[in-house]
Amino acid sequence: METFHDITSLCQYLGEKQIKGQSIGFVPTMGALHRGHLRLISESVKNNHLTVCSIFVNPTQFNNSEDLDKYPRPLERDLELLRLEGCDVAFIPDVSEMYSEERILSMSFGYLEEIMEGKFRPNHFKGVGLVVAKLFNIVRPHRAYFGRKDLQQFVLIRKLVEELNFQIELHAVDTVREDSGLAMSSRNVRLSEQERQQAMIFYRSLIKAKSMLKGGHAPAEVKSTIESDFEKQKNVSLEYFEIVDTETLLHISNISPSRSVSICTAGYVGKIRLIDNISLF
Ligand code: AMP
Repeated sequence: METFHDITSLCQYLGEKQIKGQSIGFVPTMGALHRGHLRLISESVKNNHLTVCSIFVNPTQFNNSEDLDKYPRPLERDLELLRLEGCDVAFIPDVSEMYSEERILSMSFGYLEEIMEGKFRPNHFKGVGLVVAKLFNIVRPHRAYFGRKDLQQFVLIRKLVEELNFQIELHAVDTVREDSGLAMSSRNVRLSEQERQQAMIFYRSLIKAKSMLKGGHAPAEVKSTIESDFEKQKNVSLEYFEIVDTETLLHISNISPSRSVSICTAGYVGKIRLIDNISLF
């Protein structure tokens, strides 16, 4: 596996591969890799000549400095996992390589950055949009792989690709879970054993909501039942629990089989923020 820290050498290396007609698959990450990330890498390895993974803890998408400072950064382990998975190129820029001090560009995603995650993490998606657009321009991949676990991020990046005419095929990869059902996340390593148990309420609630919706209960009733379940759980605070149209992420008030529905949630266990979603059908 080749490792690059600077943009110029990476572009030169990938440019030569592109001239030879090699397809490039790209997986952007913030590192602290787990089986969820590796599923994205293996999808890319299967479908492209060359797979590039970036590891960059992007400061502009954090709105909590403690979360940024405590974000795990086990770089040597990450590189070893990427090698084992068959990744060809790791791109590991530092912050000064990605951002100049004079930068003024900012991206806006309208209502998509105001709802769910956006409501609780102001400016988060401006940071995500900008860094992904920069990485797309640097790597110029044919295909890019993102997790469905971050559904809102995927919808937003699909907009970015459409509206900025990136010639990139986007692929959404299903959420990889621990045996308990807990969605894998780099932040899970910060959960104590007790918090891991408490964190189960997120997945359990998604499953409960799904079964209530399938049983004919209205979205508003389901939402309030789940919210009151959360109120009873110690050390857990719910930020949102929403039943939305999978394409637009807007609330829905009735379930109809003709539209795709997702149930999305996020909140804290102790000081650790978790996010998850499942689709209804
Ligand atoms: P992150 O390093 O958290 O920015 O995630 C990098 C990519 O991995 C994003 O596209 C995430 O949606 C995806 N990802 C994170 N966790 C999982 C998971 N448990 N299953 C599948 N994909 C995931």
